[in-house]
Amino acid sequence: MSAETHAQGAVARRDLAVRAAVEQGLVGGADDAPPLVCLLDTAGIRASAAALTDAFAAALPPGTPVLHAFAVKACPLVPVLRLLADAGIGCEVAGPGELALARAAGVEPERTVLDSPAKTAAELREALALGVAVNADNLQELERLDALVGAGPARSPIGVRINPQTGAGAIGALSTATATSKFGIALRDPGARARLVRAYLDRPWLTRLHVHSGSQGVPLALIAEGVRDLHALAEEINAAAGRRQVDTLDIGGGLPVNFASDEPSPTYAQYVGALREAVPALFDGGYGLVTEFGRSLLAKHGLVLARVEYTKSTGARPIALTHAGVQLATRTVYAPAQWPLRILPYDAKGAPKDGDPVAQDVAGPACFAGDLLATARELPPLAPGDLIGVPDTGAYFFTAHYGYNSLPRPAVHGFTVTPEGRVRFAEVRPAQSLAEIVSESGGPLRDALL
Ligand SMILES: *Cc1c(COP(=O)(O)O)cnc(C)c1O
Repeated sequence: MSAETHAQGAVARRDLAVRAAVEQGLVGGADDAPPLVCLLDTAGIRASAAALTDAFAAALPPGTPVLHAFAVKACPLVPVLRLLADAGIGCEVAGPGELALARAAGVEPERTVLDSPAKTAAELREALALGVAVNADNLQELERLDALVGAGPARSPIGVRINPQTGAGAIGALSTATATSKFGIALRDPGARARLVRAYLDRPWLTRLHVHSGSQGVPLALIAEGVRDLHALAEEINAAAGRRQVDTLDIGGGLPVNFASDEPSPTYAQYVGALREAVPALFDGGYGLVTEFGRSLLAKHGLVLARVEYTKSTGARPIALTHAGVQLATRTVYAPAQWPLRILPYDAKGAPKDGDPVAQDVAGPACFAGDLLATARELPPLAPGDLIGVPDTGAYFFTAHYGYNSLPRPAVHGFTVTPEGRVRFAEVRPAQSLAEIVSESGGPLRDALL
């Protein structure tokens, strides 16, 4: 199926799901319905997992070992990890919480990769005991691993993360491959390359190399440059070792996502094309591959649905006060120019709303003036009881809840559409209750400071 056909299918499913969410009482314009819900398109997630798997499989010789590990931080929900595991995708974890989620989802240690820049000795011990793959971030971590690995062969594949220092993308805070990024061992610093080769020759159990140099705002060609440098370093290490000591390259994730339309772009096939151009040898089957995509697997498949509670006009600007704000779209609220989100207007019944567009601000519920999902956005005039849909929020948005104003985490439901057009919802995360908010905020310790 073409990317365009995929997008049409996704839009049709989304509109059916919005109407069904209202009909089935998951969200609504009336006061007795929840004002906010988050939806995940199960078929869309499966389609992205298949597109990823197919794009690499089509380019690699049959039998090349490949592990696609989902970056859990993008959507840390156990049923989602389970769905992805069912589609053949493992987990990339960055700490004990994410590792616990991967294990709860039943993802095997052999299909799990641990990548945090600040792993404790206890976390490293646990990973090695389980057989989880580990990528060391720095030389001090390697020394810690020396003590843990000892003389015996490690069950876990172990690698080192490098920073290719290939340069920044459009978003500074998300650029991992600048000259001074905090991640990995810098490859272009004076003497660094020789030290790295030495570190491998001294440690026969180091069999992998890792880079994660892409993210939102990073062009494909720049990501591919980092992978090219990774491959060249592996060849250099193996030549110095006189054997294929490095047998697997972990090329990270970082495929950007199109937030401007429903088109999934760039596609995994386009990324594989950019990699083939920059590093043809990556696809000769000489190395096993690990990937760690997060945003590109989930972002397009998440939708926030929020009620418009009130509308008003201030300084001649219409403002819609909704229930979706900084708690769900933290990056958009604090860095709106870098993280623009679309706003889809629906009426109280969940039907797409038309009308002559008027520039409106779309505000969230939090108590600070900047809590806006959009400013001066051209939309049909919104009214109390309408709903707004915020698409492309399946990664790093509602799944990375921000507890400002003690705003509760809304429920997340996955949905599927039957061939007859019926929508079935499955709860993935219950709404956080007020009792939970009180309890997580020290409620049971009420008298602790008296
Ligand atoms: C965040 C992260 C990823 C996933 O990045 P996306 O941009 O979501 O694909 C992969 N690997 C590492 C090490 C990461 O930190």
